[in-house]
Amino acid sequence: MPHRVVVLGAGVTGLAAAWRLPAPAFDVEILEAGDRAGGIGSSMPVEGFVLDHGIHGLYSARPETKPIVEELRATFGEDFLTVSKKTSIWFRRRYLRYPLEARDLFRALDLRTAARCFLGFLATRLRKRLRPVGAAPGFEQWVVDRFGRAFYGLYFGPYVEKVWGVSGSRMSSAWLARRISEVSLWKVARNAVLRRLHRGPAEHEMHSLQPQTFLYPPKGSGLLVGRIGEAARRGGARLSTRSRAERLHVEGRRVTAVEVSRDGRREAVSLDALVSTIPLPALLRLFGPALPRRVAQAGERLRFRAMAIVVLFVDRPRVYEDQWVYYSDPAIPFNRVNEFTNLGPGFSPPGRTALSCEITCFAGDATWNAPDAALAERCARAFEDLALLRPGEVRGHQVARLGNAYPIFEVGVEEALAEVLSFVEGHENLHTIGRQGRFEYINMDECVWHATRAAQAIVARAAAGVGARP
Ligand SMILES: Cc1cc2nc3c(=O)[nH]c(=O)nc-3n(C[C@H](O)[C@H](O)[C@H](O)COP(=O)(O)OP(=O)(O)OC[C@H]3O[C@@H](n4cnc5c(N)ncnc54)[C@H](O)[C@@H]3O)c2cc1C
Repeated sequence: MPHRVVVLGAGVTGLAAAWRLPAPAFDVEILEAGDRAGGIGSSMPVEGFVLDHGIHGLYSARPETKPIVEELRATFGEDFLTVSKKTSIWFRRRYLRYPLEARDLFRALDLRTAARCFLGFLATRLRKRLRPVGAAPGFEQWVVDRFGRAFYGLYFGPYVEKVWGVSGSRMSSAWLARRISEVSLWKVARNAVLRRLHRGPAEHEMHSLQPQTFLYPPKGSGLLVGRIGEAARRGGARLSTRSRAERLHVEGRRVTAVEVSRDGRREAVSLDALVSTIPLPALLRLFGPALPRRVAQAGERLRFRAMAIVVLFVDRPRVYEDQWVYYSDPAIPFNRVNEFTNLGPGFSPPGRTALSCEITCFAGDATWNAPDAALAERCARAFEDLALLRPGEVRGHQVARLGNAYPIFEVGVEEALAEVLSFVEGHENLHTIGRQGRFEYINMDECVWHATRAAQAIVARAAAGVGARP
């Protein structure tokens, strides 16, 4: 008798888990609440354009996922393009190439601000010599302790607050510090100073935590996710769309079935193992009244930042040179613009381009509920103010909304997450994985890595005869 596995969610994580568990040993059903597979990694169909939910480059974000990326390329991506990353930052009314070059950073600052930053930075270094800097829980204090307050206010403070909608003092340093590396910032600042004294390292020294090239499917990330889904189906998995998980049946430490609503009916699907890739707070709700109060309270602390993606279509070959441009200025509605045209030929029809603007917000707030046309108008105005577009140049728009774009890492969230995971993982046949399922800010390579490890655990338990239905 095959081991029956139910997978909740048909984003890249759920599809990859199903791909890793082929028939005849496994009987896999994927339950997806939406009307199609793909999740955040799907592409948006617009004639002649390749548009994803933000540019979705495939690369290994950590050493453990290097073999995964190589496997994905060999299995699904022989036609994938290798693209050189081009990013810039709108900083004090000029565009700086990212990773930051010290020369550009200093050119963008007036003498007074540069002096304030330099003196603030020097003071932190002197203080550090006198007494070690503590591990401040808040991101703002973490940066101020290491680089000075003037430096915090220059870019990182406003950017973090704009993207996550939470003050820098409430954002957790533990997580953000990993993205804004102390080492890389220290090098930028040090080189900036040394260059001024004419004895610094070469100007071209760049500092970034991410690789400078990535792979891209020629028809968008949906092509990769779709190919993983096809492989899962070839392996015997069944995909049920418009099938929302509503409740779990639990006996002792085992989940025995999931109640699903589809076509207006509610039915129980029995299982040996459950792989959940849906947002962690949504998974907790499936436990219903049986969920312990302290876990429910911890779950309430796991908040997501939502995103409206506003795509403007323009009759011009391109607007930027870059693929990504970041805006920390709160007066500009979007925090990042993606121009897919600059990934390479074939991403936009000849002579036309699309500007995909990311506006972070909270699900249900005024931005989330604003009519599409109003969001498009707001973005078009901002491009006019930036002197990038002329009035009337936008020829159309399309808007997508993501309710769970970014997990928000507020101070104390690590403890809440540990509480929630300890409860969920107390169920021996329940695996919660992926970006939503683990409340982690991770990319597709890590999602497939999670799926691979969960599948390995299920295979091992099935081989040992553990967890099969009596
Ligand atoms: C703006 C942006 C840019 C990004 N850029 C990159 C990049 O450059 N490179 C990269 O590798 N990654 C990138 N990522 C990350 C990448 O998109 C995610 O890591 C990945 O798509 C997450 O996949 P997932 O399957 O874990 O979650 P999702 O794609 O969110 O899938 C979860 C699925 O669960 C379904 N679901 C929810 N509730 C239920 C329920 N009760 N019952 C059944 N189904 C349910 C949802 O409908 C959804 O389809 C980016 C993400 C964002 C937001």
